[in-house]
Amino acid sequence: MLIDTHAHLDFSEFDNDREQLLVQMADVGIKGAILPAVSLDNWSRVQQLSHRYGLFYGLGVHPWWMDAENLPIHIQALQQALNEASTDPRLVAIGETGLDGLKGPELAVQLEYLTQHLALAREFDLPLILHCVKATEPLLQTIKQFPGVRGVIHGFGGSLESARQFADKGFKIGIGGLVLNPNAKKLRHCVTNLPLELLLPETDSPAMAPKGVTRNTPLTLLQVVEEIARLRECCVVSLKEQLAGNVTQLFEV
Ligand SMILES: [Zn+2]
Repeated sequence: MLIDTHAHLDFSEFDNDREQLLVQMADVGIKGAILPAVSLDNWSRVQQLSHRYGLFYGLGVHPWWMDAENLPIHIQALQQALNEASTDPRLVAIGETGLDGLKGPELAVQLEYLTQHLALAREFDLPLILHCVKATEPLLQTIKQFPGVRGVIHGFGGSLESARQFADKGFKIGIGGLVLNPNAKKLRHCVTNLPLELLLPETDSPAMAPKGVTRNTPLTLLQVVEEIARLRECCVVSLKEQLAGNVTQLFEV
């Protein structure tokens, strides 16, 4: 059974039909989702929803919600929240965090947040969920300073070469709805050629709606998996098994 490894199901976009959606997911064999947090404001929400519906969550600060002034407060709060949740089996990751070259505070501030998250990932022995937009080089350089950390570069859109570099550092590659776009040639090349054990399926709902899809939900995961199978010329059933195994290996769910 599959899990959507990146779904913001706590967002208000799902307030009207969250339960219905979870039933639909179960009906098509998607057994749940990992809810990455984005800021202090939604930590308790992802925790509550995970407990109520048997989902999983991460805790962290997304680049768009980082800010220089509150950095020490945010990091201290994160450490405390991780401490409090350290025996919670539903806490499976630190994140999402990462670097965004197009949005959020200046790079130096983002790098400081990222470094602190990496240190916490090591301290709490948890995988990281990393967001990377136009920031491959600085992200790689920062990860390199923390040998032994592991995680996923979620919503990957880079080249085969950079995927391999992230894989060398212990990271898997999150494949979302972008793979459904025939023009996403670089990514589709990546998905075709990377070792299968590196791939993780995700939707990034409600963001990243694939072309032609008006509303992105975890149900899109099936299309993503079917497209990966098509690109790799393998059977969907065994691919699902392998992907589920990859998810278990990284997040222990
Ligand atoms: Zn996200």
